[in-house]
Amino acid sequence: MKQRSIFTTLFSIFLVIILLSIGVSAIYSITTFNNFIYKIEKDRLVEKTEILLDLFPVEDIHNIEKVDRFTRAGINGQTRITVIDNSGVVLSDSIKDSETMDNHLYREEIQDSITGRSVVVLRFSDTLDQMMMYYSLPIEYKSKSLGFLRTSISVDLLEKRVQVVTITITIISIVLILLSVAICYIMTIKFSITINSIKRVAGCYAVGEFNNSLSENGPREIASLSKSINNMGNFLQERISTVVKQKNRYKSMLESMHEPVIRINNNFIIDEINRSAELLFNKKDKYTVGNNIRFLTDNEIFLEFVTLCLNENKSLVKIIPLSLDKKYHFQIHSSILYDADNNRLGILLVMNDLTEHVRLEGMRKEFVANVSHEIRTPATAIQGYIETLIHNDVSLEQREKFLKIIYRHSNRLNSIIDDLLMLAGLEKSDSSFQFEKFPVSDLISSATNIVSVKAEKSLIEIVFNIGENHQIYAHPLLAEQALTNLLSNSIKYSPKGSTIRISTRYIHGGLMVEVQDEGCGIPLENQEQIFERFYRVDRGRSRDQGGTGLGLSIVKRVMNIHGGNATLESKVDKGSTFRLFFPGE
Ligand code: ADP
Repeated sequence: MKQRSIFTTLFSIFLVIILLSIGVSAIYSITTFNNFIYKIEKDRLVEKTEILLDLFPVEDIHNIEKVDRFTRAGINGQTRITVIDNSGVVLSDSIKDSETMDNHLYREEIQDSITGRSVVVLRFSDTLDQMMMYYSLPIEYKSKSLGFLRTSISVDLLEKRVQVVTITITIISIVLILLSVAICYIMTIKFSITINSIKRVAGCYAVGEFNNSLSENGPREIASLSKSINNMGNFLQERISTVVKQKNRYKSMLESMHEPVIRINNNFIIDEINRSAELLFNKKDKYTVGNNIRFLTDNEIFLEFVTLCLNENKSLVKIIPLSLDKKYHFQIHSSILYDADNNRLGILLVMNDLTEHVRLEGMRKEFVANVSHEIRTPATAIQGYIETLIHNDVSLEQREKFLKIIYRHSNRLNSIIDDLLMLAGLEKSDSSFQFEKFPVSDLISSATNIVSVKAEKSLIEIVFNIGENHQIYAHPLLAEQALTNLLSNSIKYSPKGSTIRISTRYIHGGLMVEVQDEGCGIPLENQEQIFERFYRVDRGRSRDQGGTGLGLSIVKRVMNIHGGNATLESKVDKGSTFRLFFPGE
């Protein structure tokens, strides 16, 4: 059903009341005035008739002349006078010739007079052809009825007066109605505007717009209602801003969390998800909330875990590989969520990135296996030769040969242990190393001095192209260790009589130290792993050269400590170029 507006309802009620009250009053007034006018005229007619009867020459009733004179006296006034005898014959009339008039015995007013109940009669006059008011009294002389004295007046005049009164009252009523309607209209409009503004402001509050308020002026009740609504708005605004602040705090906390967090409802629908989780599942800038959990990933292990948590209603923990190549490992904690009435809402998944942990664990295992392997070979060899020397008779020649082999393997063991100790030392916090600025020529001359004997043995020439006054910002001993490792590798893996070139240049606000050799080079497929611990291209050759497989990983670590890097460019049988970049101060 269509509901009417407050304006229409109130205004139509007021309109009906106004029309009814003023209309009824007008009708009542018009009727009362009409009756009053007629009553006055009737009373005057009765009074006039009685006075005329007193003045009537009763003894001369049959003297037509005298009677005519009497009736004509009324011509000047508006009253018509008629004298009628007992038989109804008109003796004289102030307006009409009596002889032309018909018998009046059965006229209503005459009949009333005969019965002694004279009343004013309103009726149409056939003689004058108009509505007239009649009153008649019997003419008596010495208790004997002689006829009737009848007076009458025209009703036209009265009707005109009545018309004037009616028109006047009608006009006054219309003016009153218009005035009342106008006042009602204004008041209703004002009231409806007030109600509408209350409705509008309440509507604004309902949608969270609180920058509107109501004027607190006007009638007491309206002002108090407006005040209450304004107070309600302020209260709601405060409450909502508190809730919004709390929500934002919670949201920013969730968003700033490094750990991916997902809230899933009982129907496997994502209710909430933070940015880390969206990034993890590669769904950044996509609308994930409201979607099934399968929208995030089709990783079956993950989906099975979620299903298990929801089906078994249990908080669980599991490490899950989260990409096809099992590159990322996450430890997922699930917790069951309940509302205040202890109804289950769903589950919360908090995921910890264990990728680095898993990688380090793998590296640690590989490292231990590598170390064991690297140490076992020389240790087994040393043990084997010593047992042979103890339990067998060996010639002096063989003894010397075995001792040389034992010496070589023990040197190797020593080198491995030295390099391992060196690497362990470099694992310390980066900030514990003190850097200084010094000429790079100092670094290069000390490193070349260390390898000069080996270089000379292999008839390798080391040439320099060092920028004048080039300064380096580094830890002198570590930088020397890195450069020495590169130089000794170049000597190890280069043919006799070749050349090693050392050059420096300023680049990107730092200093680049380059070591170029003409050695065997490193195949492209091995270049990526060359800086890993114990990685060697040709294991046998490295061992023969007394290599430990740790030299380049020490270089890499030293450059990390400096905030720089070590890179390689190499071609098989052409040679290799190792570059060390030391950032500026
Ligand atoms: P190693 O002690 O075996 O030399 P490194 O870590 O220093 O261990 O080097 C790793 C491997 O890289 C070496 O075994 C070798 O195969 C290769 N390599 C390093 N430097 C060179 C170079 N200048 N020329 C050719 N191969 C090299």
